[in-house]
Amino acid sequence: MNLPPPFVPKEAVFQGVGVGQGIAIGPAHVIGATSYRLRRYKLADERAVQAELDRFQAALTQTENQYARAKRSLPEELSGQASIFDALIVLLRDPTLLKSVDNRIRSDRLNAELAVYLAIREIGGLLSAINDTHIRSRLSDVEQMGQALIVAMSDQNGGPQPVFEEGCVVVAADLSPAEVSSLPAGQVAGLVIEMGSQTSHAALVAQAFGLPTVMGAAGVLKVLEHGDPLIVDARVGHVIRNPDRDAVKFYQTSQRTLKDYQLEIVRSAHLPAVTLDDHSVEVFGNLELVEELPAIFANGGEGIGLYRTEFLYLTRQELPNEEELYEVYRRVVASAAPRPVTIRTLDLGADKILAINDTKEARENQALGLRAIRFCLKHLDVFRTQLRAIFRASAHGRARVMLPMISSLDEVRKAKELILETREELLKEGRRVAEEVQVGLMIEVPAAVVLVDELAGEADFLSIGTNDLIQYTLALDRGNPEVSDLYQPFHPSILRMIKRTIDSGQAAGISVSVCGDMAAGHLSAPLLVGFGADQLSMPFGIIPFIKRLLRMSFYEEMREIAAETLKAKTTEEALTFVKANITAKNSEFFRRARQAS
Ligand code: PEP
Ligand code: MG
Repeated sequence: MNLPPPFVPKEAVFQGVGVGQGIAIGPAHVIGATSYRLRRYKLADERAVQAELDRFQAALTQTENQYARAKRSLPEELSGQASIFDALIVLLRDPTLLKSVDNRIRSDRLNAELAVYLAIREIGGLLSAINDTHIRSRLSDVEQMGQALIVAMSDQNGGPQPVFEEGCVVVAADLSPAEVSSLPAGQVAGLVIEMGSQTSHAALVAQAFGLPTVMGAAGVLKVLEHGDPLIVDARVGHVIRNPDRDAVKFYQTSQRTLKDYQLEIVRSAHLPAVTLDDHSVEVFGNLELVEELPAIFANGGEGIGLYRTEFLYLTRQELPNEEELYEVYRRVVASAAPRPVTIRTLDLGADKILAINDTKEARENQALGLRAIRFCLKHLDVFRTQLRAIFRASAHGRARVMLPMISSLDEVRKAKELILETREELLKEGRRVAEEVQVGLMIEVPAAVVLVDELAGEADFLSIGTNDLIQYTLALDRGNPEVSDLYQPFHPSILRMIKRTIDSGQAAGISVSVCGDMAAGHLSAPLLVGFGADQLSMPFGIIPFIKRLLRMSFYEEMREIAAETLKAKTTEEALTFVKANITAKNSEFFRRARQAS
């Protein structure tokens, strides 16, 4: 890491929020919009050309029918808007468009989606060059229609799957967590998303996959072209377009140094996180997908501190049944045993929308909607099915249940009643369940912090979800890049809420864990330990770094620093103090840890 940074012209660098570790170098794979993936392939022969022309025709018909249906279904009071759909249908029949697509399929031998995409882009370019606001306003209609056509074609069976070039960097306006998880592992080297921030669920999934990611890279899609060479430096949130040879060489060297350094840390991952003055902290992994389980343990995770179960529900049209859930949970619990697995009950809502419940209401103001425990207590059948599967799996190891987004005692009592009933029901059926299944609560809503003494009295453990705690306390959407600078883990109110929660847990004699992103920060993790957190749970890639960091620290020092930091009146004060003190303690180690994470 001793190389001087290369000179990179300012206009080539996009600034976003870096997530995960490392550097990716590769060609851009642009996904135009969330709703479709652009397939690209060359047509081999005349038959393939005809097949693509047919697919295009079918998409035209399907889209026209769709517009006609939408027009018919407009409610009385909106019938004045029907002309929007007429205009779209006229656009669909536009001879320039039809000719352009036809040419690209017949002469350029491009697949139908790509032909439409390029034709739309060309028409869009012509429209935006015209100095007439009315004509320019048609631009979004054209783009909308192009998207609808491409989506219609991606719905049709038979076309090949999108081809991701080896080592490409996926660039998108926005991606759902499910979409990130469906990117082909091994082929995609990095991710750039225009929307979101470091705690969007898409970012968490990307981090879990170890993908260097930049979120909130506003405006990249206006400039980037598919295939543009890119460098993604997730450590500082930079996306560099068309880097010159020196920049590529510099980042390749940094990438190698980083990998060597990471390897060195990972080798010591199995040592416990015991501080130099003999204080032990448990370091757990956060699990999104079952496939990550081996990586959590290979990286030294001592258990699962947060199993985000909603991902099993997200990509599908029907709900998973008890048997299916049981099979997955059993596998996780049994392969983790004797290590504990903290299974968080469904946290649907916010940016995790269920395909079968993808309504306007569910998408609107999602963070304050029917989310997590609220959803479960309204959909008791869904909740019961999950609880039954968890309790059945508990017979195979050490399962713990964790309830998300608790904001009142009533919710806890209702959920616990249901948990008790479920257990009894299973025993009556003659099923095996573990003798003890601890029930813990996530503290991630300000109301829960205010009530934390009472809540701790009802719980076997507490776990602080700092991502939502920051979102709800500071009243800012954790996925909105416009307020990402205000998303401040070191805000005095956040620090005091965390301390308060840990103190209450300790007074009640129960363990307190932190499973939000703060547990994975090289400045915040020591602070949390200094506040008295018993466990930290994080994406697997970070586990070895945090363990090593704690092994090189004194608990007494972390306690002193934490106590002093708590007196800060502003974020700036807290952060300056933490940086000065924590960093100074182990400057060389921290310097390297910071560069690597
Ligand atoms: C949190 O809110 O900090 C948390 C761990 O839960 P999630 O990120 O899944 O909302
Ligand atoms: Mg949360």
